[in-house]
Amino acid sequence: MKKIQMVDLNGQYQAIKEQVNASLSTILETSAFINGPDVKAFQLELENYLGVKHVIPCANGTDALQIAMMGLGLKPGDEVITADFTFAATVEVIALLNLTPVLVDVYPDTFNIDIAAVEKAITPKTKAIVPVHLFGQCADMDALMELAEKYNLYVIEDNAQAIGANYTFKDGSKQKAGTMGHVGSTSFFPSKNLGCYGDGGAIFTNDDDLAHILRGMVNHGMYERYHHDVIGVNSRLDSIQAAVLRAKLPHLDSYCAARRDAARKYNKAFAGQEHIITPKTVNGCEGICDSCDCHVFHQYTLKVTNGKRDALVQHFSEKGIPCGVYYPIPLHKQKAYADDRYNEADFRITNQLVKEVISLPMHTELDDEQINFITTTLIEFVNG
Ligand SMILES: *Cc1c(COP(=O)(O)O)cnc(C)c1O
Repeated sequence: MKKIQMVDLNGQYQAIKEQVNASLSTILETSAFINGPDVKAFQLELENYLGVKHVIPCANGTDALQIAMMGLGLKPGDEVITADFTFAATVEVIALLNLTPVLVDVYPDTFNIDIAAVEKAITPKTKAIVPVHLFGQCADMDALMELAEKYNLYVIEDNAQAIGANYTFKDGSKQKAGTMGHVGSTSFFPSKNLGCYGDGGAIFTNDDDLAHILRGMVNHGMYERYHHDVIGVNSRLDSIQAAVLRAKLPHLDSYCAARRDAARKYNKAFAGQEHIITPKTVNGCEGICDSCDCHVFHQYTLKVTNGKRDALVQHFSEKGIPCGVYYPIPLHKQKAYADDRYNEADFRITNQLVKEVISLPMHTELDDEQINFITTTLIEFVNG
């Protein structure tokens, strides 16, 4: 059996090697390292793929979120609601901008932000909601956009984990993750579903005025050379990363399909297991149907409900099976973000999830022998 990897970047590289190497060699020969033609071309190609009017490339997914919030003109003291169960970048940028993070609980089955908890947290100071489409599946955007309308709030989608996923609205219309709110952000960190060979990110919006503001903000607030109209940052996607992303984007849908195939095999192997709860797909797709396009499985995260999660992580490491615990500590318990405002009773689900979740190897190159070894090892241990 091939050694099992948590992510397999080399397998993907081998399949697109000729194109990537040729593009990189052109960039090296022409020295168009910053703002070269590949950056603009990638921007247009991604706008086309996502069906969004504007893509603003930038240096990473954390910057993308921060610049999105700057572009919306959020002011110190404004409250921004986001999930307690996510990667720290989401709350970090809220705090960095001196906005007030308001963390709320998530759903136990999809791990996405709890709509009732969001509504309960809204105050006259609330200005924005940041849903994170966690592990590759969209939060309940129907409900979030309704709340946003009702309370006059911005919705900023943190789409670092769900690029390529679709969301089907109640009226049957479909939109790509990251393009439904007022603004969306993503990350091209190598292990993300659309990853480059370093750092990269992008902001999405359908709003022409906001897009204009954002394009200047990523470049020192400059709209005309050496005229700085607003305080910006230096956040660029470089040409080498753009060239890698151009080679990968045409394969994104097939990468997502390969991930879903692996997820289906995991689900099948764990069916009927008392102490193993597999991830739930929603949004018109109960189970991962054959035509599923709603979950892109950035992570395949299940719950071990009989208290053996930590021991399983140890057992996996002895067996040479990589795994991850995303996330082991709720954000409201992190030193940097703990606050007297929070009440433990409001984080019942997140407090439980951090003890039960485990993410299994997930990438486009997993074979049946590996999946079989992972699932049988897991089932035997959990029931042993
Ligand atoms: C990866 C990630 C980010 C940050 O992306 P970087 O490119 O690493 O800055 C933000 N939010 C979520 C949910 C992520 O998974």
